[in-house]
Amino acid sequence: MRHFAEELRARQLPLDYTQLNHPKNSGTLGAELGQAILRHKPARLVMTAPGDWRVLKELQDTARSCNIPLEIREDRHFFSTVRDFAQHAKGRKQLRLEYWYRELREKTGILMKSGKPAGGQWNFDQENRAAFGKEGPGIVPPPLRFKPDAITSEVIQLVNAEFADHPGSVAASKEGFGWPVNRKEALRALDDFIKHRLALFGAYQDAMWTDEPWLYHAHIASALNLKLLSAQEVVSAAEQAYGNGTAPLAAVEGFIRQILGWREYVRGIYWMNMPDYLERNALNATARLPEFFWTGETEMNCLRETIQQTLQTGYAHHIQRLMVTGLYTLLAGIRPRAVHEWYLSVYVDAVEWVELPNVLGMSQYADGGVMASKPYAASGKYIDRMSNYCKGCRFDPAKSTGENACPITTLYWDFLMRHEALLAKNPRMVMQVRNLGRLSAADRKAIRAQTS
Ligand code: FAD
Ligand code: SF4
Repeated sequence: MRHFAEELRARQLPLDYTQLNHPKNSGTLGAELGQAILRHKPARLVMTAPGDWRVLKELQDTARSCNIPLEIREDRHFFSTVRDFAQHAKGRKQLRLEYWYRELREKTGILMKSGKPAGGQWNFDQENRAAFGKEGPGIVPPPLRFKPDAITSEVIQLVNAEFADHPGSVAASKEGFGWPVNRKEALRALDDFIKHRLALFGAYQDAMWTDEPWLYHAHIASALNLKLLSAQEVVSAAEQAYGNGTAPLAAVEGFIRQILGWREYVRGIYWMNMPDYLERNALNATARLPEFFWTGETEMNCLRETIQQTLQTGYAHHIQRLMVTGLYTLLAGIRPRAVHEWYLSVYVDAVEWVELPNVLGMSQYADGGVMASKPYAASGKYIDRMSNYCKGCRFDPAKSTGENACPITTLYWDFLMRHEALLAKNPRMVMQVRNLGRLSAADRKAIRAQTS
């Protein structure tokens, strides 16, 4: 915000900006808008549609109480509008990413050739999503990190002074603070990804490795969510890389699917279902979030690695979020609202409109299947297949009972048992429920005992 304010001042645009630590800052956006209305006495308010429901309501309430008309304009950083999604959803019993994604591909012509998907297929998952193998990832091109300038350094000091007791760290981490904070840096971060990592993005999209937080991901979600980059320019840069032969179609399609597909999809789901969405808890999960989520101090290596990396950098990639931390809280039956609050607190790219459907819908199945067609439930063997975390762990991912049983594997079976009746109705869970049926009564009892 401070960099943006500087840019606007440099362009000599009129600006009224209150800093967080200004002595007269009233502490809420709505109240600050109210103060600004008193200062400027405007005839009307004009704003870009905000991402979050809470912000929209707060600003609408202020405008209403000040009796000033409020005009809300479309956010042009997206391909679709919230209304486009509502139109797509109309009359459908069940929403699925694939249909929405194909509709947007057809509408925009992205990766399309004579009305057909480039390469003759919509999806290249078969070629994507490999693990690294025993030897690991080798040398991964390091991401471009940005040295804090005077403004960022000042804010780091402010955060350290005002929020010293909050979890995480701003500058004391091994990595230091290196996120793009202005448009120039965001464009350089995008360019760095396209040149050095996009070609292997698809292949290693789901792979994890100890001490390798960045891998072949783009690390641009915070820049996108802060509107330092638009979805259109990111997708166009990836499409160009395919066009000029610097990245294969499978990688480019896999990447574009995340932005044109998932990102637009979760935004639609969010706005269609708020504010009730926040309260969803389809699996009646009520357990408390374990304390180690705020410290990373746990014997479970996968969780320790992911949480410590998160607290140090504000970043974990999609599979770490979905299939390590998210998997654990799903299986352990943690209250979805508490899980949501954790994710919203710890990631540098966390904004409710994108975080909430991913956490509550995709990872916790708390919306009962609005977002995902089945719960993302797996045992420790999945983590063993996709990473080397289990090699450095005192637990054995293949074991569900006994001294060195993997807690994730134990919880996996316990989760299936707890929700057997519900899961048996889901055609996509047939295999998992069938495997559960092979457990003897004694096995079930031992697993139950192991969880207590
Ligand atoms: P890459 O893996 O390189 O992907 C490229 C881009 O695609 C991302 O920058 C992002 O803009 C978009 N993208 C990828 N997957 C998704 C998705 N499922 N939903 C929406 N956009 C997607 N993303 C956020 O932006 N903010 C969040 O708070 C957030 N919370 C998440 C919580 C959970 C439990 C899960 C499973 C996913 C969450 N995601 C969130 C989606 C995704 O994990 C992050 O966008 C991604 O890890 C950010 O890293 P990256 O920029 O390196 O992404
Ligand atoms: Fe995680 Fe289980 Fe593997 Fe340990 S053995 S790293 S707890 S999956």
